[in-house]
Amino acid sequence: MRVHLVNPSDASFGTAVITPRWLYVLAAATPAVVGDPILCDETLQHLDPASLQPGDVVGIGIHTGNALRGYAVGRMARERGASVVFGGIHATLYPNEAFEHGAAHAVVRGDGDLAWAQAVEDFHTGTPQRIYEGGRVGAGEFKPARWDLLPPDRYMWASVQTVRGCPKHCSFCSVWRTDGQKPRQRASDAVVEEIIQLRRIGFRFIALADDNFYPVSLTDIQLAERQNNAHRVAELKAIRSERFELMSRLAQLPKDTVFFTQITMEAAEDPDFLAAMRKAKILGALVGVEAVTPEGLKAVYKDFNCSGEKLVQQLQKFRDHGIHILGSFIFGLPSDRQDTFEATLEVAHRAGLTFAQFVMLTPFPGTVDFERWEKAQAENLKTVEGVPITRYWLVPPETRPKMFMPHPTMSSEEMRARTQRVWDDFYSMASIWKRSRCTPTLRARLAFIFISKLYRQMYASTGIATDSARRNRATQWARWLAKPCRRLFMGKPMPHLQWNGRASANSVLVGLKVGLFILQSLG
Ligand code: SF4
Repeated sequence: MRVHLVNPSDASFGTAVITPRWLYVLAAATPAVVGDPILCDETLQHLDPASLQPGDVVGIGIHTGNALRGYAVGRMARERGASVVFGGIHATLYPNEAFEHGAAHAVVRGDGDLAWAQAVEDFHTGTPQRIYEGGRVGAGEFKPARWDLLPPDRYMWASVQTVRGCPKHCSFCSVWRTDGQKPRQRASDAVVEEIIQLRRIGFRFIALADDNFYPVSLTDIQLAERQNNAHRVAELKAIRSERFELMSRLAQLPKDTVFFTQITMEAAEDPDFLAAMRKAKILGALVGVEAVTPEGLKAVYKDFNCSGEKLVQQLQKFRDHGIHILGSFIFGLPSDRQDTFEATLEVAHRAGLTFAQFVMLTPFPGTVDFERWEKAQAENLKTVEGVPITRYWLVPPETRPKMFMPHPTMSSEEMRARTQRVWDDFYSMASIWKRSRCTPTLRARLAFIFISKLYRQMYASTGIATDSARRNRATQWARWLAKPCRRLFMGKPMPHLQWNGRASANSVLVGLKVGLFILQSLG
């Protein structure tokens, strides 16, 4: 019996930006008795059916966006005599769907760090269960990823997780409901050990794949103090000091390491935190700006964000601390008007964002928005190709609608076209060239241009483009751009890098050249 783990994807680019962390974490969770699992990331290339044999176990991780492709992989695996196990956020929310559409033998719900091992063992001994409840495991039980199984030369960025869960409750996001609102932070030693392993094999750029890298804001602490809640204050301060401890460790890693993470805008009010991030080489962060007006922010329960001129100033504070921002905006909120698109673009330019993404409001399962929308549809349930619109992810991508929530003043097509124009403007060559001035060298400027174009093309291929010719062209472009891009991101492998509370190299094993390089890196 062999174990396969599959990350399904409709589009394959040959090279991918970020390693799908879950594949390598579940590889670590796979019991040794069945040997190393065979990993397939379909964003690189599609699964070869011939690689599956009767008696194999195939684990497929799905989110709403790739569920349909995942179900096709499941049916194909079962036809070839394999046992099929689904997991991931979407299977957690809709386990029955995995049985009905994906030919599942079993479903793992919640965190797979422990439950996956149980499922594999049960299939191995011939006693599988139908449902495995993984729940939310404690931070001490998070599995470190099996980076030794990474294929060479395929990814630009590695991914390491430092915290799961987010205390906020944005209406369009399912993270706080699935991963919980209580942050579960990994010990800094476990995080750094993984990073050292990645540096040894040549990864220099590492995404800290956290739900929210800033789980406690200064406002949270002040609020607890005002309520005289000493226990809560102590709890929040402990979480905060663990973040600082982690960042002080990251600061000791070779100085050409670059981290990227996700963070709430409130961090702009916390200069100590921003300074620690800069020292820790966290040079980029995704910030969910969502909307540029107070009405829009209220609509998505994100009124802790700023709007108007204050928003521009808050975003600039990250830049002032040397942290580049990928700003994320949502279009299609009920308060949006035709001039919202132009106003958003202007904010994105004026706030000095390095990258930006403009997504259309989509009701994702597990969110408050989805529940409201599903309820509202019930009275007059529409179907697309026989599929109820409230199960839109079961409609093939070519015919799947792009917008689901009717807008009070604009048609779906108008909003889609306006969103597309904002993308085209932000990622025009002239705009990218202007923004690329933020990089220190010509090589870095080139990398910036490549990655900007790649990001645009990858999104266009799977996101807002409606016509298939444009999608196919975008996929071709992305395949072409991804290869040279990857080379720009890779670092020199440091096979002898050690960690004894501080990155160092074993001088007996390492040649003088490598030693000098590391000493230089440590400054
Ligand atoms: S959108 Fe971000 S801040 Fe809001 S709940 Fe999700 S992870 Fe937390």
